[in-house]
Amino acid sequence: MFNTPFLDIPPLSHAGGEVTLPGSKSISNRVLLLAALCQGRTTVHDLLDSDDTRVMLQALRHLGCDISGGEPGRPLGITGLGGQLPVSEGDLFLGNAGTAMRPLTAALGLLSALHGGRFTVRGIPRMHERPIGDLTDALVALGCPVAYTGQPGYPPLQIGHGQPAPLALDQPIRVRGDVSSQFLTALLLALPLVASQGPAGGIVIEVIGELISKPYIDITLNLLQRFGVHVERDNWQRFTIPAHSRYTSPGDIHVEGDASSASYFMALGAISTGVDGQNGITIRGVGGDSIQGDIRFAQAAEQMGAVVETGPNWLRVGRGTWPLRAITLDCNHIPDAAMTLAIMALYAQGTTTLTNIASWRVKETDRIAAMACELRKLGATVQEAPDWIAITPPATPADWRPASIHTYDDHRVAMCFSLAAFNPAQLPVRIEDPKCVAKTFPDYFETLFGVATAQAAHIPVICIDGPTASGKGTLAAEVAQALGYHVLDSGALYRLVGLAARQANLSTHADDLARPQHAERVAQLARLMDVRFEGGRVWLHGQEVSDTLREEWAGMAASRVSALPEVRQALLQLQHNFRQLPGLVADGRDMGTVVFPDAALKVFLTASARQRAERRYQQLIDRGEKVIIQDLLRALEQRDEQDKTRQHAPLKPAQDALQLDNSEQTIEQSVALVLGWWRSKQPF
Ligand code: C5P
Repeated sequence: MFNTPFLDIPPLSHAGGEVTLPGSKSISNRVLLLAALCQGRTTVHDLLDSDDTRVMLQALRHLGCDISGGEPGRPLGITGLGGQLPVSEGDLFLGNAGTAMRPLTAALGLLSALHGGRFTVRGIPRMHERPIGDLTDALVALGCPVAYTGQPGYPPLQIGHGQPAPLALDQPIRVRGDVSSQFLTALLLALPLVASQGPAGGIVIEVIGELISKPYIDITLNLLQRFGVHVERDNWQRFTIPAHSRYTSPGDIHVEGDASSASYFMALGAISTGVDGQNGITIRGVGGDSIQGDIRFAQAAEQMGAVVETGPNWLRVGRGTWPLRAITLDCNHIPDAAMTLAIMALYAQGTTTLTNIASWRVKETDRIAAMACELRKLGATVQEAPDWIAITPPATPADWRPASIHTYDDHRVAMCFSLAAFNPAQLPVRIEDPKCVAKTFPDYFETLFGVATAQAAHIPVICIDGPTASGKGTLAAEVAQALGYHVLDSGALYRLVGLAARQANLSTHADDLARPQHAERVAQLARLMDVRFEGGRVWLHGQEVSDTLREEWAGMAASRVSALPEVRQALLQLQHNFRQLPGLVADGRDMGTVVFPDAALKVFLTASARQRAERRYQQLIDRGEKVIIQDLLRALEQRDEQDKTRQHAPLKPAQDALQLDNSEQTIEQSVALVLGWWRSKQPF
């Protein structure tokens, strides 16, 4: 996950390959609640691991559910409460998860009325701006003790007053359906708890007003069925929960991939072509037989020009008509995925109008206002109304603007705007607060970068060159972390060559290396090295060598083998391979002069030899090694001399490098300075 203040996505050129989707948020949280309410143990496979499911799990644990497993890639086991309420008090924090807030309110309302109990439910400030009045009205009319502790109509809520309360189940329960379908879902999921106490004809729910987002009610009904409850539906107005209804655990249940998340990759398939002529993106985890309404995004994408194939649990989407066709579409059936259509509209000829989307205004943010504002930043012309939006793309490539997209703590804004990086003007796109995707798809950007490509020249590189022990490694790692970029520690590659030579019993003495045949044998080792870098650790031919590489002899050996032009040549491609999305920070001696001469920012780091020796001394002493500072100073000067005077790629600042003498600076100061230089070069 990108835990950085912003993520700059370089202009993307192609996309192709396969993605596997994380589990559906809507299915995951419904399944968790049903598994918690039913009798028996349920094993949940492919559950989404995200902010919203985490708050749901935390709440259920708090209520006394026994939950185990669920580590990445492992199923989660949950033992239901079977209609009981083992814990009678609690303060439940539900973040910004509407799919936890609404159904838990209904379930706790009924359980508290049955058994007594006293709970508060609350979330982040935005959750307290998202309406819940229609649900609480229905619950209060039913006899559930539910009260607002803040603003009337909005969470936080107090549920229960410690005593059981009588329920009026004989009359139809009336709930409005035109603000959010989650209110009806909440009642449908919770009411089977009291089915046996209702009238013989079953408990009836009547919807007031036009029910929006009907496909989400279909998911609810479908999952209730999996848990043994068969709700009768009359049109979309009357729902009856039969008197004999009882939740029963299905034993095992599999969560489908998230169809709303699939929309980004369907759109990606529709707007891109493959590098190798192989057109299209294959999406695994969700298919034509999905129970999620957002699967119908596929038809909307087809209308705009995409070529879609579907199968059981897979989809394949490629580019068809290009530019895309502008459409006018009632999006009531796909409210979440429709945001992705608003971005596809940027690649269409004409004006795309998305109607019947009033629910956008009460989601994670006011999505109509948010989309309009951010699309305009890119250069689009946008008209907005209470329940529709119309988007006309920038007229020519020259009308596109580099934009820093504000994401309003809304995962979908962040995910859909990433696709603006395919703009014909080849401008980068900045996504602010990229970690907000954790709500439903923590690895979204990694997944995108797994299938999308950019021209190497468009992938930014920051070079940090300088003499030994100047603090390049630390500076590079911190700058990379702040930007979410990859790191290339090129010195480690030369150290690895020294180590590989030692393992092969090849001498790295200067006299031996001076013999062409010997030098060629060392270069051959460099060409065949199988290396892996991960989280600051290094493997050579499958064996971890991180500590060995940092030993003094390895640095000296590196310095000697690095003077050989054939070794430098052998490592060139390996170094270029590190230039990957979204960007790279490379440290070494010749990053700016030889390896990445086109880098957008080159820093040449210096510090006095004395300072560097003292820093190195401190490092080694801290590691418990016995060293004499004069020896270190001498070795360091000798290495500087070798690096500066060698014939090939000697250590020297690139002509366009910015010099940074950090003798008197803290790491934080150096990092801030380099990030400031970087920022001043960005178009945002
Ligand atoms: O940076 P580090 O001390 O790990 O580098 C070890 C040696 O590798 C350096 O002394 C230098 O001779 C060599 N090197 C190089 N070019 C680079 C990085 C390191 O020649 N880009």
